[in-house]
Amino acid sequence: MNKENETGSGPSSPGGEPSGLSNFIREIVKEDITSNKWEGRVHTRFPPEPNGFLHIGHAKSICLNFGLAAEFGGQCNLRFDDTNPTKEEDVYVQSIIEDVKWLGFDWGDKIYYTSDYFGQLYDWAVQLIKGDVAYVEDLSADEIREYRGTPTQAGKYSPFRNRSVEENLDLFERMKNGEFEDGQKVLRAKIDMASGNLNMRDPVLYRILKARHHRTGDKWCIYPMYDFAHGQSDSIETITHSICTLEFEDHRPLYDWIIDKLGVYHPQQIEFARLNLAYTLLSKRKLLQLVTEKHVDGWDDPRMPTISGLRRRGYTPESIRDFCERIGVAKANSTVEMALLEHCLREDLNKSALRLMAVLRPLKVVLINYPEGQVEELESQNNPEDPEAGSRKIPFSRELYIEQEDFMEDAPKKFFRLAPGKEVRLKSAYIIKCEEVIKDGDGNVTELRCAYDPDSKSGGATAGRKIKGTLHWVSAQHAKKAEVRMYNHLFSKENPADEKECPDLKSALNPESLEILKDCKVEPALVEAKPGDRFQFLRMGYFCADAKDFKPDAPVFNRAVTLRDTWAKIAKQNK
Ligand code: ATP
Ligand code: MG
Repeated sequence: MNKENETGSGPSSPGGEPSGLSNFIREIVKEDITSNKWEGRVHTRFPPEPNGFLHIGHAKSICLNFGLAAEFGGQCNLRFDDTNPTKEEDVYVQSIIEDVKWLGFDWGDKIYYTSDYFGQLYDWAVQLIKGDVAYVEDLSADEIREYRGTPTQAGKYSPFRNRSVEENLDLFERMKNGEFEDGQKVLRAKIDMASGNLNMRDPVLYRILKARHHRTGDKWCIYPMYDFAHGQSDSIETITHSICTLEFEDHRPLYDWIIDKLGVYHPQQIEFARLNLAYTLLSKRKLLQLVTEKHVDGWDDPRMPTISGLRRRGYTPESIRDFCERIGVAKANSTVEMALLEHCLREDLNKSALRLMAVLRPLKVVLINYPEGQVEELESQNNPEDPEAGSRKIPFSRELYIEQEDFMEDAPKKFFRLAPGKEVRLKSAYIIKCEEVIKDGDGNVTELRCAYDPDSKSGGATAGRKIKGTLHWVSAQHAKKAEVRMYNHLFSKENPADEKECPDLKSALNPESLEILKDCKVEPALVEAKPGDRFQFLRMGYFCADAKDFKPDAPVFNRAVTLRDTWAKIAKQNK
């Protein structure tokens, strides 16, 4: 955990308010503005490859890039890095657009696509060939790998490295015209087969892929490699600060080399450590595997670390932005606790979510001295943290439900809930005392018979009586039936991405990541929720009306997060 920014003061605003926290990239940008390095401009970009849904790691990059642009009055482009037609699809493009928007960021009128630059990139490849710094290679992919050498051993020259400029121009054009099959030829940069940096040992710039592209269709059958497209796309868009994750540090010399050979605008690349989160993985390839092998119910399964999964789980954009601000931006890799992400959601929902009552595992309570047929409307505050949230009326009657776990027949001394002969307060209602326990033939408790104290409700003569436990409840005849999906960590291993520890994804999965409770009883106001609405179910956690499956006559809620905050403890230990 990066401790520098651990005590973040609140969510970064998408509107460009400085957050008060600092990080080394923000400092670089500030210095560049002071020294007028880019004529005072700040122009960043977020460049996803549309080969999957965005995850919380991407949120870090989004908050950083869009956040800096907003803070310094600059611009951040949303650019799709769509150079691999075999893995990319339009549904991914659409999901990415939706997610970035939902997080609260704005990219202006235009969306950028690397595929819009295919013509320019081709011309630049031709320029490199003409300068005799690129050549057409006939070796196979395996041979190229073999010739590359190792970090301690220089590579070997390809027998095709010394083709004439004319021959290279001719072959490259014929590659473009579809005269060769996939893998038969590639275009390589002519740099240095003995370089200590393997990326500089004549890297591949273009390959043949006879695949239909989701935007350019069949226009091209050769596609630029990521390393040939990325830096130049930044150059075309006159990006000032080209922010990327650490694994691209070793590619920077190659980007610099290409840009210098072409003699075009040169952005500054700055690398930062990617987000790693415990008990989950942040790799689109592996997340896709979870989806295709049906370990989860799609990319937006509420257990997925995707933005769409977190949204469906009940996360707010504010909580995710707050998280991204608190984890900070560093140069060294580290792993962040899931508890911090959950903490950020709790902090946000604590202020904003209405508190209602839902009984997840119901146990019937009959109040033996409460008049049959009587119904009272009791007043309950919607959120004590938010005076503006007001209050609502909840129906109270002779038959109620409480939570099974709130009753114990042989209760230890410190069990401040219901037990035979013991008293508890019902939230916003009366004090009740357990008089009798009814069981079925197998000895299971099926019903409690209790007596209520008629003077103990708010304003009554015994309202102030000291009672240790307060339980949530619903009136049996008014309660609505609901399904509640109790989500837990998807993985039981702390680092499921570690292939040594978890050779297959399946063995790393938590078999208890989802428990479905079909017969929950919720207070009537909850069925008026709209899909996506978030609530605190009193004493039970924060829940969200499922965006896909919630219907007023068949309500479905997802548990977003429990109430127990483990982050404070972890943060203390780390001090
Ligand atoms: P994945 O490994 O999940 O496929 P990627 O880096 O290949 O991720 P891209 O679509 O290329 O995915 O990423 C778009 C941007 O998001 C890049 O600038 C990348 O550096 C950044 N990014 C991706 N994963 C993370 C992460 N875990 N933390 C921070 N930034 C990330
Ligand atoms: Mg990538």
